[in-house]
Amino acid sequence: MSETIFDKIISREIPAEIVYEDENYLAFNDINPQAPIHILIMPKKRIPTINDIQKNDSELIAGLFFIAKDIAIKKGIDKDGYRLILNCNENGGQSVYHIHLHLIGGRKLSWIPG
Ligand code: AMP
Repeated sequence: MSETIFDKIISREIPAEIVYEDENYLAFNDINPQAPIHILIMPKKRIPTINDIQKNDSELIAGLFFIAKDIAIKKGIDKDGYRLILNCNENGGQSVYHIHLHLIGGRKLSWIPG
């Protein structure tokens, strides 16, 4: 499991606009936002893809969703709605191999993804 750019954001080697942080998680603005709100939420623990999650990661993975909805409420997009995306591997469009949930909102999103 090699280090990714997100480990460098966690360790502050690379700057990011941090939206939320605690002992186990970090959330920051995506550098290439696809909507007015585009935030990445990740566990600090390095898990490359969703294929690598283990049973004992259950609580950690569930926590991503609690943080996402708390941020959505804080940003005032909970009522209008938003989308959570977790890409996996090449066909899923994953480019950084440290799992992260995309929280995207602030505009009407189309469906289905290309
Ligand atoms: P994914 O393609 O699902 O792996 O998502 C990776 C996301 O990370 C993309 O939306 C990128 O725009 C975003 N990203 C890459 N480098 C940075 C960075 N230094 N700071 C913030 N977001 C980044």
